[in-house]
Amino acid sequence: MQVNDGPAQWRRIPVDEAMRALLAEFDPVADHERVPVQDALGRTLVEDIPAPADVPPFDYATLDGYAVRAADTDRASRDRPVALAVIGVLAAGAVTSRPLGMGEAYRILTGAPMPPGADAVVPFEGTDGKGFGGWDGSDAMSLGLAQERVAVRVPVRAGDDVRRRAEDQRSGEVLLRSGTRVRPAEVAVLASAGIRSTWVHRRIRIGVLSTGDELVARDHVGPLGPGRIRDANGPALLALASRDGAETVDLGQALDEPTSVRASLLSGVERGCDLLVTSGGVSMGDRDMVRQVIRDDGEVSIWSIDVRPGKPFTFGRFHGVPIMALPGNPVSAMVTYELLVNPVVRRMQGDRAAVPVEVMAIADQELLNDSGRENFVRGVARIEGGDRGAIEWHVRPTGPQGSGILTSMSRANCLIRLSAATKHVARGARVRLRLMDAFPLW
Ligand code: AMP
Ligand code: MG
Repeated sequence: MQVNDGPAQWRRIPVDEAMRALLAEFDPVADHERVPVQDALGRTLVEDIPAPADVPPFDYATLDGYAVRAADTDRASRDRPVALAVIGVLAAGAVTSRPLGMGEAYRILTGAPMPPGADAVVPFEGTDGKGFGGWDGSDAMSLGLAQERVAVRVPVRAGDDVRRRAEDQRSGEVLLRSGTRVRPAEVAVLASAGIRSTWVHRRIRIGVLSTGDELVARDHVGPLGPGRIRDANGPALLALASRDGAETVDLGQALDEPTSVRASLLSGVERGCDLLVTSGGVSMGDRDMVRQVIRDDGEVSIWSIDVRPGKPFTFGRFHGVPIMALPGNPVSAMVTYELLVNPVVRRMQGDRAAVPVEVMAIADQELLNDSGRENFVRGVARIEGGDRGAIEWHVRPTGPQGSGILTSMSRANCLIRLSAATKHVARGARVRLRLMDAFPLW
């Protein structure tokens, strides 16, 4: 791939173009592993999973009452109840082979299989029978059994309050599709089907390297020393990669010297990284040599994106291993990770839904974009009930948007997307935003 490095074709490319070009570069990793369903959370399914059996496996009562033949209740009313003979009690887990005849009923509790011959349930409330809520202290089962007749006061139709066999999962039908990222709901579906382990794509291994002579060691205690700062990007990028379900390899920090950067990256290659992510050293400064190291030992195929923050984003290959070199400003590093690294990580791990969700929201404050680039403004989004009950997303910026203001990332739950051509958004106008976390902030 050669998108925009080198003077002949240099141009700053839009974020969406960069994302499409990157996604086209990657296939899901070919290695798969079988994991217990409980450990599949956050992993991606490798194959379509058919339902091994019907769920539920039988028709059952969805509430407490009487299993009846609906036809027997046709003429029931409050004034003229229909009397049925109670021939037994069925609790959840109980079965009977004695079919229900005309004029008969079983007392039945939620979850119990429907007896043969019954096609509907009359809830206690529609009869003179009492639920256990009205229990008088006598033995529960004998309470039901002692009752010989029940007066049904409401007509029911066939199927009422019966959950049908296979209404959730039908044997042989596809339950979950390949490329699905497993959430708690998928864990539940697999467990309900009796599936105990499943094939998933292996986690990819991401090596993270910080660059910069100014960084103190991560475990540094005491005064920083003149001109020195702490390393925010290493921990941030390791956390982002972990969040995305990858294995992380901490490559530590490199000095702004080609030998130091090269040695650190080579250790990532040796340690089997599928993807290298660096921060810092990709701008135009005298000490920005990360791009040169990549070029010397491989190739650079994307350099410079039409985005704020994050313009110097670089993509290439280092000794054959894909590498994304992110800018050093902590906000730029985190935002470019979200915009361009996250979709690639998802794709490599087999997730079909690599493109993130965006919504439209009403700007509660005026927004300015003087960058001439597409601008991703850290914002706080929330849902509000509008006039006449309509529900709307609203958003406001977190405050000062400098790319060194890392606390703006912590205050934000979304990125407001202003196109390069948008110079100004009036209060009350609509803007596009990308949710990072749909929950409101306090
Ligand atoms: P650079 O992209 O290397 O020119 O760095 C841009 C800015 O980000 C400079 O102010 C750096 O000091 C700062 N910076 C670079 N790397 C980190 C890091 N790992 N943690 C915090 N700030 C950083
Ligand atoms: Mg630097």
